[in-house]
Amino acid sequence: MQRSRPLDTVIDFTPTSAPAPIDVHVGHTPLKYRPYTQRHLDEIPQIRQLRAEDRLAMKAVAAVLPFRTNAYVVEELIDWTTVPDDPIFRLVFPQPGMLAPSDLDTMMDLLRCNASVAEIEQAAHAIRMRLNPHPAGQMDLNVPWLQGRPLHGLQHKYAETVLFFPSHGQTCHAYCTYCFRWAQFIGDPDLKMVSRESEALQNYLLEHPEVTDVLITGGDPMIMKAEHLARYIEPLLDPRLSSLHTIRIGTKSVAYWPYRYCSDDDATQILRLFAQVEKAGKQLAIMAHYSHPRELEPPIAVEAIRRIRETGAIIRTQAPLIRGVNDASEIWADLWRSVLNKGVIPYYMFVERNTGPKNYFEVSLDRACDIFRDAYNRVSGLARTVRGPSMSTTPGKVTIDGVAEIGGEKVFVLHFIQARDPAWVQHPFFARFDPEATWLTDLKPAFGKPRFFFEEDMDRIKQQALQRWAQYNVN
Ligand code: SF4
Repeated sequence: MQRSRPLDTVIDFTPTSAPAPIDVHVGHTPLKYRPYTQRHLDEIPQIRQLRAEDRLAMKAVAAVLPFRTNAYVVEELIDWTTVPDDPIFRLVFPQPGMLAPSDLDTMMDLLRCNASVAEIEQAAHAIRMRLNPHPAGQMDLNVPWLQGRPLHGLQHKYAETVLFFPSHGQTCHAYCTYCFRWAQFIGDPDLKMVSRESEALQNYLLEHPEVTDVLITGGDPMIMKAEHLARYIEPLLDPRLSSLHTIRIGTKSVAYWPYRYCSDDDATQILRLFAQVEKAGKQLAIMAHYSHPRELEPPIAVEAIRRIRETGAIIRTQAPLIRGVNDASEIWADLWRSVLNKGVIPYYMFVERNTGPKNYFEVSLDRACDIFRDAYNRVSGLARTVRGPSMSTTPGKVTIDGVAEIGGEKVFVLHFIQARDPAWVQHPFFARFDPEATWLTDLKPAFGKPRFFFEEDMDRIKQQALQRWAQYNVN
């Protein structure tokens, strides 16, 4: 691993409306962004050292699930002396166990016999369709409507928050192997949710004053050039949108490509844009995805955080709990301490979602509770802003509070942090303890109840959504 290369660059940099230019010691010789995709696997010197059979397995997985990384992740974040166990290696490079053994064999055989692109794609598509590409009703329940038409590229699941998927932000600087949005990266237009219409977003918000937050997400919106991002953000600063308080940007760029805020050609414009949001009286919240404390070690990663915070933006961190990457309480305690030391707020520990290679990365709910509790116990009260372990399910965000014995029955205690129906929030409910359960749908209600308290309402919500789509499709 080659980290913390000698410092020799001073950039003259004016990030915000600050009165004087700020000379900042960047921490590295700036890297040029160099992505590696499936086609470039053999070009990565460290990968060429692996056994031919391992490389073939990697390519077989990458033919089904998206793969992309970059020179910074390869050179600065992965400790190649510990591969294949290195957590960042597992975070970005295809792992053979991500496919079922029979699917892996099929794909490897096709590659071995130089099958045609069409044959490979057909087999890959069949596998993808078995991997629940759009969990939690993204394609039907969450799509908002404006003047009788669905607004693709937007999601409105919780009353206060609208998600916006800008068409220019549908890739990432590197892809996480466990990504729950993997279906957006595989080039199938039916599986893509994009919008070129920031105007439609603005019109929708004008009709929905209950929305206080817009989350710009992807992929990773920070893959966009500053001028593209500005085209999406500036309409949100319109004084008519006075009920919109916070613009959130969901991004892993601070971990995967911190140069975005330090030495990319348009880094200055990006930071000015962030400062502009604050100037317009809105809050900018960077929802930074950090999976492991290693991502905060390089000086350039620390510098990126410093520059973002200097614009007035707040950074909150979130990530799923992933087997083989961060499934230990000390990793999470280190992560939360490390971000807190840099002025960043720990926000969520998620449970791996029920899509893609979930079986390979999942951790049982029981174990997730233990890891969360043990990590939470080790950090100061200031880091206990973090919530979890939390599942983003079809009805809402469900946190597992713990395991208890009530009336002689061992149960999971759960509650909604966010829900399709706000009345469900903070309402404790109980599920029969199941040591194997990994998702809400694995759980059964406790105390002999036939259904969870929200299920009847959820059926009604689904029914209404289906009727609306049926009516629209007829017209
Ligand atoms: S950064 Fe986020 S959207 Fe991109 S691959 Fe990772 S989890 Fe998925």
